[in-house]
Amino acid sequence: MLKENLLNVKNSLPANVKLVAVSKFKPLEDLMDAYNAGQRAFGENRPQEMFEKQQNMPDDVEWHFIGSLQSNKVKLVVPKTFLIHSIDSRSLLVNVNKEAEKLNKIMDCLLEFHIAVEESKHGFSIDDAVEFLKSDEFKSLKNVRIRGVMGMASFVDDENVVRQEFRRLKDYFDLIKTEFFADADYFTEISMGMSGDYKIAVEEGSTIVRVGSLIFGAR
Ligand SMILES: *Cc1c(COP(=O)(O)O)cnc(C)c1O
Repeated sequence: MLKENLLNVKNSLPANVKLVAVSKFKPLEDLMDAYNAGQRAFGENRPQEMFEKQQNMPDDVEWHFIGSLQSNKVKLVVPKTFLIHSIDSRSLLVNVNKEAEKLNKIMDCLLEFHIAVEESKHGFSIDDAVEFLKSDEFKSLKNVRIRGVMGMASFVDDENVVRQEFRRLKDYFDLIKTEFFADADYFTEISMGMSGDYKIAVEEGSTIVRVGSLIFGAR
């Protein structure tokens, strides 16, 4: 079942779109089933849970942190994580940089944008992000690398609302790339799309989809 679900999602994606299998709340056996079916990129949203799974899964798993991250949990996430999708404030990026510096690594990150109508969702506004990217503070952060943007669309039935929000995120990506990363070959990623809306996200330019329940079942 799980393998079939995974392959169904995978086969519905264009070759240039990465599938992150969101395994939060799911037991290791489920992750290993996906691993044995060829999946390598996994997404988690709780630092402690991801940390424990990282100690118990093969070394070639690519870990994606997608949840809200408090500063006191940064040290759990930075050592073994491939990409942090959910940088939603200046202070968080400063803290991630500090931790990466201690480990002598460059931590790849995405800037999370608030594109949904729900206030409960996290993320920068475009104005705040631009101001931050212009700042000397940002330029001083040598141990983080911004690889693109991430966002979550509103949880609504109206497909047009969702599509407009993804389109806005793609516009933010284009604007930031032009203004700040025109020469950076690493600024390439748009993380958008979940189980309910990933097909729309792909149509609107997603390069990474984060799919959980369609693969692992309801949580
Ligand atoms: C849980 C989660 C997902 C996956 O959600 P599904 O609807 O189960 O596919 C994707 N992105 C984020 C940020 C999440 O927290």
